[in-house]
Amino acid sequence: MRDELQKSLRERYPLIFGAAPAHRDPFKVLSPFQVWGFECGDGWFDLLDALALNLQYATKSTGAPQVVAAQVKEKFGCLRFYTDLADARQRAMIELAETMSGRICEECGNRGALMSTNGWLMTCCPAHAAGGEE
Ligand SMILES: [Zn+2]
Repeated sequence: MRDELQKSLRERYPLIFGAAPAHRDPFKVLSPFQVWGFECGDGWFDLLDALALNLQYATKSTGAPQVVAAQVKEKFGCLRFYTDLADARQRAMIELAETMSGRICEECGNRGALMSTNGWLMTCCPAHAAGGEE
């Protein structure tokens, strides 16, 4: 994901996505998310934005646990969002986002479908299905 989009998510949801890398404690063991950030395409920005909005709102309004991203990546063509703490409702939100990622082009955010290209699974729209770069 482009740096500016990652920065935007970190700024909007600092409790979920953590401080900017410069503010890390160098002696603390880092999670994959802290090391690699968002390991997925720009097309899932809105999906992650909506997910984080709802996760944070659940914490603020109902006292649900504070979700902290441990790893956010693409796997088998779909989004995977790993966290240690989450209640049943928050886990259901994450599951829904992961399911929706299989219908949203990871490149551009248009409607897409899970496709297999040379053994690689990827969710893409018709324009990006042929491995097209913009
Ligand atoms: Zn696309």
